[in-house]
Amino acid sequence: MKKTEKYLYKPSVNKENDFAMWMAFPGIYSFSMSSLGYLWMFKTIDSLSDINIERICLDTEKTVYNVSDIKLFGFSFSFDTDFLTIFSMLEKYNIALKSKEREKFPLVFAGGPVVTANPEPYKEFFDFFIIGDGEDINLQVVRVCKENQHRSKEEILKLLSDIEGVYVPSFPKEVNKLTKKLDECIYTPILSDNAFFKNTFIIEMARGCYNRCGFCLASYLNLPLRCVPYEDLIKIIDTGLNYTNKIALLGAQISAHPKFHEVCRYIYDKIKSGQEIEMSVSSLRVDAVTDDVIKTLTAAGQKNSTLAIEAGSERLRKVINKNLTEEQIFNAVKIARENGLKGLKFYGMIGLPTETQEDLAATVELAKKIKKDNKGFDISFGFSSFVPKPHTPFQWCGRENTKSLEGKSSFLKKELHKLGITCHVSSIKWDYWQAVLSRGDDSLNDFVLDVYKLGGKLGAFKSAARKNNIATDRFAAENYTFDTNLPWDFIKIQPGKDFLIKENKRLLT
Ligand code: SF4
Repeated sequence: MKKTEKYLYKPSVNKENDFAMWMAFPGIYSFSMSSLGYLWMFKTIDSLSDINIERICLDTEKTVYNVSDIKLFGFSFSFDTDFLTIFSMLEKYNIALKSKEREKFPLVFAGGPVVTANPEPYKEFFDFFIIGDGEDINLQVVRVCKENQHRSKEEILKLLSDIEGVYVPSFPKEVNKLTKKLDECIYTPILSDNAFFKNTFIIEMARGCYNRCGFCLASYLNLPLRCVPYEDLIKIIDTGLNYTNKIALLGAQISAHPKFHEVCRYIYDKIKSGQEIEMSVSSLRVDAVTDDVIKTLTAAGQKNSTLAIEAGSERLRKVINKNLTEEQIFNAVKIARENGLKGLKFYGMIGLPTETQEDLAATVELAKKIKKDNKGFDISFGFSSFVPKPHTPFQWCGRENTKSLEGKSSFLKKELHKLGITCHVSSIKWDYWQAVLSRGDDSLNDFVLDVYKLGGKLGAFKSAARKNNIATDRFAAENYTFDTNLPWDFIKIQPGKDFLIKENKRLLT
């Protein structure tokens, strides 16, 4: 426990026992302290009286336990390139990177959206994976490992492979993704002055999003949408406000919560009665922008917000299942401006399936109209390029080639700058490698190892592909037919592949 940390729960004391584990975050300490999933996972295990658990980050200098005492070493794996940091953390503690090169302990595992969607490119490095919501499985995993620590590595892994939601590559089988009920509200269990979002109490209002945009992993990996009951949310908000005045509401689409407006109203009333509260929310859906919501945000100190519109034309928004009209967008901007926001950032994607030059021109046209009708209001645009993600209706769609995407990126930057609008586009080349990893199979294990050894920059990806003779367009750019066997088919996620095929046909034909 660091001096700047404030625990909002009672860690189990008197931990005289023989089982210690590390829960690792593949990034620096300040980011780890703003990662709700990671901290909550730590808290659930830290509450067990017979397990010693320690948090480890990229910049951890001294550890309480020696690596030789560690039985389990778990990593949260949220971004495609997290493997680079994970490998460097394993090497820092002299742990062999491949599972077959390691003795029994520590058993190394990973959980999080990347490996839940498709663990195959990384399967040789981890002894097992947690597939899905890990809150409850983790406790079972720890229990099995502790109670069977005298057994061989193979025996322990066999036992773990029998737990629903655990994938052990050395005991392959179909794995059902676990879906937590969300019967408890998840919130920041440890506040820190040194967190990236300093002393901010984060509350998960909802998990998943019912909107089901055709490309969206955050939605399809987390169906059905689950919302924390209003009464529980209010109780937790009050608890948080006992410790800090900074709160953040989290969820892939928090405005999908049926009581989102009531929650905003509750906070707004508190501010109006004199309580000092700073509140922030993850991005808003256009149709959730109402007077009440914006008034609350501005009263709570928020000056700008992000609206995800994904595509500039109504036609393309329909194709991706983001059914927003232009009128709704204009109306949202008007409400935001009239209720005190200083600016809005619009988020979109380029290279979405069926996109044409007309769709891009429609984006520019939309920006022009917004700018014209909202003089003095700060408008900016951010784009990333389409990356096909497993378990979504667009998982069969190849990515457009890099040259053509770079052309689209330049067009948008040029046209929006002409209008005096700031525009940022993510790196098309990095997005390409993200697509390779996201639809990759187990032939990529040596490739990712070489990417790491070669320094992890863009050039390293290219060189590693050449060295391992991997035709990477096969993963990033090819359109697959519905009967193609996909590397992640063994991971069963509701509503299932037949539904995804139907949805793909409905949206794209
Ligand atoms: S609205 Fe946002 S979170 Fe929901 S499915 Fe669409 S992109 Fe995903």
